[in-house]
Amino acid sequence: MPPSIEGLHHVTATVGDAQEDLDFYVGLLGLRLVKKTVNFDNHGVYHFYYGDEKGTASTLMTTFPYRGQGVRVGQKGAGQVTLTSFSVPVGSLPWWHRRLSGKGLHVRETPPRFGHGSLVVEDPSGLAIELAEAPGDERTPWVAGDMEAEAAIRGIHSVTLRVRNAGPSAGFLAEALGAKLDGVEGSHTRMAVGGGGSGAFLEILEDPLAPDAVNGLGTVHHVALAVADGERQLQFREALVDRGVQVTPVRDRQYFTSIYFREPGGILYEIATLGPGFTVDEEVAALGTGLKVPSWEEVNRPAIEGALPPVTLPTPSGE
Ligand code: ZN
Repeated sequence: MPPSIEGLHHVTATVGDAQEDLDFYVGLLGLRLVKKTVNFDNHGVYHFYYGDEKGTASTLMTTFPYRGQGVRVGQKGAGQVTLTSFSVPVGSLPWWHRRLSGKGLHVRETPPRFGHGSLVVEDPSGLAIELAEAPGDERTPWVAGDMEAEAAIRGIHSVTLRVRNAGPSAGFLAEALGAKLDGVEGSHTRMAVGGGGSGAFLEILEDPLAPDAVNGLGTVHHVALAVADGERQLQFREALVDRGVQVTPVRDRQYFTSIYFREPGGILYEIATLGPGFTVDEEVAALGTGLKVPSWEEVNRPAIEGALPPVTLPTPSGE
């Protein structure tokens, strides 16, 4: 049995201001902050994880708020995830339109793709965020503040991978990661991993004239796919190496372990394990409330805390 991908795990972006990021993803989109930690490679920068109650894989958006660290604004382009889509219930788009435009955001209604409508807004750092109607998404939403269960985000729906030539990217997804072709609409090729459905879609957008992507503020850094455990992760690693793909060693991310590699279109992928998960250092009820640093960094905690900008956790509110 070849190892299989379970679905999406998370999307990670380089963003600007930490407080603005919290206000958008928690205060406006209503996601739960499930972990407040630091960039393991740069302790002056937070690493925020947003998701459902427990931070279940496929519901996770993670950000590095790099404002003030000398990081340039990125450029969206080929070799990058240029749209992150969240799943919302069918019929909830008018509710979302009111909520988002009420905050002064420019809300763009997009023509239906693969049969369903969506709204697109920019987050405070310029990331393109889509709310896509997804029928039959059974994931339980996090509902807090003035969020309504009938409208709340269910998790990540899909990512859009912009490349100049869809063929090699689709072929790689199919052959190396076991993805299946779900549909083609114009320049969009939708692939499904695992069982498919919302939370397991990857859309390849062929854009022959796209400029080269440049990582920086307001861009997605990578997309992570989920595997059940470390054994399957190693099986994927071995198979990728056999294909001639350069893959990192397994890295300990405290809440999961990870490997990273690039697909033929240049997009950075991660394969992450489902466990141990976010309750490894905080109770479910307390997730996201404390600043967590990996055990090997506890000795540096005072210096780490002193270097981070103070932030407050908002309560979801459209007011
Ligand atoms: Zn990641």
